[in-house]
Amino acid sequence: MSGPNVGLVLGRSVSRSPSTGAPSRKIRIVVGRHRVGTVTVRVPFDQRLLARLESVSPLSPNHELAFAHGKTLLSPSGHRSTLPTQLPLDRPTEVTVDGTRYVAVSTILTREARTTRLVALAPAAELLAGADAAQRRWLLASLGALAAVALAAYALAPLLGRSRLSRQQRDRAARVLSHLGEGVFLVDSNGVIRLWNAAAETITGLAAQQVSGLPVETALPDWPSAVARVPVFEADERSQPQTIPVEIAGRELWLSIAGVEFSDGTIYAFRDATSEHRLEAIRAEFVATVSHELRTPLAALHGAALTLTQRGHQLPAETRDKLMWMISAQSKRLAGLVEDILLAGQLDAGALRVEREPFNASAVAAAAVDEARQRAAHKSMLRISTPDDLPRVLGDEGRTHQILANLIDNAVKYSPAGSRVDVAVQRENGRIRFSVRDRGPGIPAAEREHVFEKFYRLDPDHRQGVGGSGLGLYICRQLVSSMHGRIWVESAPQQQGSTFAFDLPIANAA
Ligand code: ADP
Repeated sequence: MSGPNVGLVLGRSVSRSPSTGAPSRKIRIVVGRHRVGTVTVRVPFDQRLLARLESVSPLSPNHELAFAHGKTLLSPSGHRSTLPTQLPLDRPTEVTVDGTRYVAVSTILTREARTTRLVALAPAAELLAGADAAQRRWLLASLGALAAVALAAYALAPLLGRSRLSRQQRDRAARVLSHLGEGVFLVDSNGVIRLWNAAAETITGLAAQQVSGLPVETALPDWPSAVARVPVFEADERSQPQTIPVEIAGRELWLSIAGVEFSDGTIYAFRDATSEHRLEAIRAEFVATVSHELRTPLAALHGAALTLTQRGHQLPAETRDKLMWMISAQSKRLAGLVEDILLAGQLDAGALRVEREPFNASAVAAAAVDEARQRAAHKSMLRISTPDDLPRVLGDEGRTHQILANLIDNAVKYSPAGSRVDVAVQRENGRIRFSVRDRGPGIPAAEREHVFEKFYRLDPDHRQGVGGSGLGLYICRQLVSSMHGRIWVESAPQQQGSTFAFDLPIANAA
């Protein structure tokens, strides 16, 4: 993949330098930790450069520019002629080119290519024919000035060359980068996005057309605060990407990103680390919650078992019974936690089979309330209201019972002792709605969606002394949705407490 003046070498191998002695530039393209390749661009002393110099220098039509390389003279038309001797530097000299006599003034172009000179040519006839000495001096001086102007124009050539270089380099780099899985974008030295590859489009949802040519902070409003955390490396350094949050079009993305700086700007390479970050957050929450939830019952179990083994025979029967009861309750709590973790895992994997059979909603609610009354042990007043003529629900009876039990237990757990909990089943908008209303602290509006997330607790540090894994409502939501239902929470400001409700399809309507 290379042309006469642009070379792209993939991998770590070094691109060969030009043989003509023309100035060249080399830029390494580094993506993430890998060097993708090297782009080398030459600005050769050719007729195109001559034509460009002629167009920017004030030459009169009968004056010409040429490059002299040794004894060879190259004109803008591409014509090559051979001189009898090498031209002296900065001294007007008469030369014959294609039978026409010229006065030539030559000057060195760059230090890196000393053998190539820029030559200004004026027809000798203009200088000689009948000119007096003063006019001749004037003409020679203006020819010298002409060479100087052309030289000044040449000073612009690196700039011209650079923009050409950047364009060619970008085009070629863009082609290579479009095949990479990592998002890549280039921000030039003016802070404008110059390249945005296909993976960057996929990851961010922003099309190249939308963002190319825009200042980076217009395309990515979050960029000014994010960029301070993006590590930028030299082309030769090994880059170490950093994972940072960036908001793009209202979405929070976590990008693992690093930049590589070069003279025309910075290339950033990134990959989407959002799901990794989410997984990591869930893992951390899982470890924190589960270790807390395990530690408490395990400590109680250990203490009770130790007391019974060491001093059981000395204890009154009533104390022994209490310790036995505690062992049973705490091991049940542990088993429940393990059960919840396994169930959440199955739901995540989509591996849980859920029945779709008609069943009696009122009977399920009544059974769930009865059992909860026994568990609540007079802690709360549980009331149930169900109309007589309810149609049957389509879903999994056992799982519906489980969801209701969880909602009722939460209502009792998070409410003051002795407060009232109402369970209701009713027909609403062509579906059957189950609801559990308590008189507890309620759920702030901003938290209502979050309480259904895995491991989410309003009191993550268990400061209020109410234990829980934060899995219950997550399991409820997954189970309800697997039965084609919806679950939500209402907490009206004028009424105390919260109402958790879910609806399921009616059997005959389905
Ligand atoms: P947990 O095991 O912590 O109870 P859940 O998933 O059942 O887990 O509930 C998640 C969080 O929602 C709870 O930690 C609690 O902060 C809040 N919550 C659930 N039900 C209620 C309720 N009826 N009243 C107030 N807060 C509640």
